[in-house]
Amino acid sequence: MSTRRAISVTQKSASFIRKGDPLLVKESFPKELHFEEGEVVSLVDPQGQFVANAYLAIQNKGLGWIYSYHKEEAFDQTFFIQQFHTALARRQALLDDEMTTAFRLFNAEGDGIPGVTIDLYDSYAVFSWYSKGVYRYQAELIEAFKQVFPFVTGIYEKNRYQSDDQAASDFVEGQQAPEPLYVKENGVMYATYLDEGWMTGIFLDQRHVRQAIMERYASGKSVLNTFSYTGAFSVAAAMGGAAHTTSVDVANRSLEKTKEQFVVNGIDPDTQLIRVMDVFDYIQYAKRKSLAFDLIVVDPPSFARTKKRTFSVVKDYSKMVEDLIDISADDAIFVCSSNAANYKRDKFKADIEKAFKNKEVGCRILEEHRLPEDFPAPAASQTSQYLKVFIIQKTK
Ligand code: SAH
Repeated sequence: MSTRRAISVTQKSASFIRKGDPLLVKESFPKELHFEEGEVVSLVDPQGQFVANAYLAIQNKGLGWIYSYHKEEAFDQTFFIQQFHTALARRQALLDDEMTTAFRLFNAEGDGIPGVTIDLYDSYAVFSWYSKGVYRYQAELIEAFKQVFPFVTGIYEKNRYQSDDQAASDFVEGQQAPEPLYVKENGVMYATYLDEGWMTGIFLDQRHVRQAIMERYASGKSVLNTFSYTGAFSVAAAMGGAAHTTSVDVANRSLEKTKEQFVVNGIDPDTQLIRVMDVFDYIQYAKRKSLAFDLIVVDPPSFARTKKRTFSVVKDYSKMVEDLIDISADDAIFVCSSNAANYKRDKFKADIEKAFKNKEVGCRILEEHRLPEDFPAPAASQTSQYLKVFIIQKTK
């Protein structure tokens, strides 16, 4: 069976891997590596002792992934079927929940097959491939998937790695989904589009945060949703009884997409404000008008470049919260979120607290969220647990 190469990793890397960190990076290897995309190898420590099996791939994050600590384990359909069964069992409660029809079915390294995630939208699956190396196993992975998830009626894929010959999004097989495809999350409807670039209209990892807003924080409040995309947080707030919502996003598409999310929930979009503009300009405008919101959502992308400025979340988040404090009401609640893997939880928290301190107001953390249960991450992984959300109240 095994003609795979044995490759040495450094002592330090062997120790990280043995602690459960599945990511391989350039520094994991004592010398430059030459490999075929997706090549399966056995890793050994400098003493020649077996460490783990991995596949090698040039990817956004690093140079490959550990997939098994068992020497004989192959990266093949039998292995994929086992991982899919475990993932399915973990999600039984979500599968049984009729109020939620979109969530993550399979979360890459957290579910045992690094480099590929699979999201369920009603009866359709969306695969995201994070390297050419893992894409090499596309056919076997899809075959294994169909055996374990026979209720899935159609498959789409997103190619999230650099490639000249692959589209960002593709229909793969089965039935095509209607456009839009309506999904439910905690009873709220969202219109999704499974074949429009990388994004579908909703970020599934924020389910519990949308629920928190809807059930605990929105009622009677005036809500500002910055970087609103399709307005999912605004819709959750409106469904939770918000008095009013304002959604701000610089992308032209956000206007129609946000209106649509309100309409599918029976809310007249003309009763809500949707602003297509730069958040930074909006904040200046809101300051001039002395607006004061009760609930403010701040979930920017890691980097944003508009004609006027570049925003880097790690550098600029704290200042942005300061600016938003200026347009917040007494006792306002902030939903502060970042999905940047390089922005560590403790630094993020400290940056938020610093903003309140600089503005000479107090703050109190009401809730903290990380990735939800359908996005499991290996505990020892440095980069997998990317999502951080603090729901925090301004105090006197
Ligand atoms: N919070 C959203 C997802 C945000 S995605 C949700 O949970 O659904 C990031 C969004 O930020 C994109 O829609 C992008 O158009 C928008 N964006 C990026 N830079 C911006 C800027 N300077 N001002 C306003 N919107 C911006």
